[in-house]
Amino acid sequence: MALIVQKYGGTSVGTTERIENVAEKIIKSKEAGNDVVVVVSAMSGETNRLIDLANAIHPRPPARELDMLVSTGEQVTIALLTMALEKRGYPARCYTGAQVKILTDSAHSKARIQEIDAKVVSEDLKQGRVVVVAGFQGVDPSGAITTLGRGGSDTTAVALAAALKADECQIYTDVDGVYTTDPRVVPKARRLDRITFEEMLEMASLGSKILQIRAVEFAGKYHVPLRVLSSFQDGPGTLITFEDEDMEEPLISGIAFNRDEAKLTLLNAPDKPGIAGSILGPISAANIEVDMIVQNVSRSGATDFTFTVHRNEYERAKDILDGVAKELGGEVFGDTKIVKLSLVGVGMRSHAGVASTMFEALAGEGINIQMISTSEIKISVVIDEKYLELGVRALHSAFGLDDDDATVRVEGKEA
Ligand code: ASP
Ligand code: MG
Repeated sequence: MALIVQKYGGTSVGTTERIENVAEKIIKSKEAGNDVVVVVSAMSGETNRLIDLANAIHPRPPARELDMLVSTGEQVTIALLTMALEKRGYPARCYTGAQVKILTDSAHSKARIQEIDAKVVSEDLKQGRVVVVAGFQGVDPSGAITTLGRGGSDTTAVALAAALKADECQIYTDVDGVYTTDPRVVPKARRLDRITFEEMLEMASLGSKILQIRAVEFAGKYHVPLRVLSSFQDGPGTLITFEDEDMEEPLISGIAFNRDEAKLTLLNAPDKPGIAGSILGPISAANIEVDMIVQNVSRSGATDFTFTVHRNEYERAKDILDGVAKELGGEVFGDTKIVKLSLVGVGMRSHAGVASTMFEALAGEGINIQMISTSEIKISVVIDEKYLELGVRALHSAFGLDDDDATVRVEGKEA
């Protein structure tokens, strides 16, 4: 007998019909002999609708009241789902975050969970009930309702799984797992059977939006085995887990890309101590996050300094850099038409030659690399955004990630 925490996202509970379908899935797991705790999101679109209502009344809605409002979406789905279970003869009870004592700090709209007293839940499980808990919400020390940030139901599920020492936390969503890359860009993308927490964190922070990043961090920290599966079709999904020493890790697990960055260069800056600080100091003082940084080899007392920022911050960052250039000398260039491609894989720790294979594959397609950065399990390059698809596809096949059956499927569809 295992204890499973299941989380169903907004599209999975988007209509009453789908809620009935979720009830059936829960019953299947229950019938297989599991204790089941369920976390649900609001019906898809509901949280946005509530935020729009608030904005229609107040240009900057008070944070406490906004959380009171947006947390209601989940209260609807827990009640409906519990009714669907009861109708089928399965005893169930639903609870808000405050009722199961998901205690958070008071940072409204981005609260952090501090403690869960899961006694109520355990008691119900002992009585044979399915427990249905509202995702995304908690309660602060003053008793105010808080929310955990968009997509926060994932974090609720993982935190409950950690508190209850569940055997697995299953995240049901509208895709059937984590893919080697975005299947919309590479039709030959393959579902991964497993991926490590570290890799998943890299993929998530690079823009694979399957799971809230905080949920992955939390699961890694508390050793909660996490599985991503589809609500709409059966299958094993993708298990997110720790590196297994007995298993041969694939060299590369996935390829992520990010279209949201822009590049800024200060050409011919004086090459002397403190220069990087005087360029990036004002940028960070303006609260602009910098991602990649490259400073080239100095020659004759001058250096070129390039960095990337979020595209939304580009104009602001450029103004600041123009100011820096006036003081230090040098010339400012900017480019918003770039994309960052990243190879992610724990296997690259123990293998040489990943970078050169990557660069050769891109060169083979005539793609120029503008910037390179590496970390232990990731290599990123910046290229012209018009080569995004070509670049990702070239890397996908160069590293043996292509699913050739998928090609057949796709070609079959087209024919
Ligand atoms: N309903 C919330 C949102 O839309 C939380 C969630 O879905 O996880 O962000
Ligand atoms: Mg979500």
